[in-house]
Amino acid sequence: MPKVTKSTKSTKIDHATVIDYGTLSDITWPGSVSARNMIASGKINDITISHAIQALNEFYVLVSPAARTRCIDGRHDPELDEKVLGAQVPGGAPGAALAYRLGVDKDDLTRGTFVVDAEEMIARYLRLGFAPGGHRDDHSAGKTAVGCGAIDGMDVILATMMRPDLVDDHKRVVKELLGPLFNRDNYLRNMGAAAVLNGRSADYFRGRETIIDILEKRVKNSIATLKGEHQEAVVVVNFVPGTTLASNRFSETFGLQAFGYDLWRSMQMAEKIMPRSDQAEDRERFIMARVMSTVATLMALTDGSQRLVLRMPV
Ligand SMILES: [Zn+2]
Repeated sequence: MPKVTKSTKSTKIDHATVIDYGTLSDITWPGSVSARNMIASGKINDITISHAIQALNEFYVLVSPAARTRCIDGRHDPELDEKVLGAQVPGGAPGAALAYRLGVDKDDLTRGTFVVDAEEMIARYLRLGFAPGGHRDDHSAGKTAVGCGAIDGMDVILATMMRPDLVDDHKRVVKELLGPLFNRDNYLRNMGAAAVLNGRSADYFRGRETIIDILEKRVKNSIATLKGEHQEAVVVVNFVPGTTLASNRFSETFGLQAFGYDLWRSMQMAEKIMPRSDQAEDRERFIMARVMSTVATLMALTDGSQRLVLRMPV
């Protein structure tokens, strides 16, 4: 296997700086998507991964405001028009519901369901003029699972966030992503909310798979069907407002995929959902909860052997 020295230097290209943080984790996360296994089986190699990271900016394009919100899932979308791309967030629009519940919602945590929370989030998207979106995959037809790891595994994701053996690593990655925006009190507050919700996880998440049908009925053409196997070798967290990954072109060029999270969109959503000056605290808590659930999603879906890349505005 070719050995490549990981660069921790920043590469400045045009309007964005790409920062290579090396491997996501030095411990093994519980998820099954493994860059390590793909490299060991010869499907991909370290040199191609480094080339893909170096060329990353060429695959970032402007989002189209009317385009449906996409998931961070790196698999091929045969219907995707890469001239009209929506931002990528975990689980698409319904995925934001968990972050809102953990960070912001003032309702009793011992009540409520994910389906109701996600329907409210979809309604917010529509009122604000965002195009909600979600996805299935080509394995999910006729099954109860929808094929979106962020939705199907949401109970596992929440439980993963609570795991004592992973909590240190979870906090480390959340801190890496948020930098100076990391707020310890908000982190611990959201963790407390997650613990309460995790205690009634079966009730809260019951029927969550129906949210994709609900969204499809509510908004025409909002649901994609992704094809093929997971081959994500890179996780890109993108802070450059208004840009997103041309995911099909990226995977076709390099033969590997990226989980692409447009963190700028979560910040923008926080501003749009909670615009008042007296809601600054809720905005911070929402962003923290969204990043916390994203990191837990990566922990539940991958073994932590992907390369972590931040894309920052210059
Ligand atoms: Zn998904």
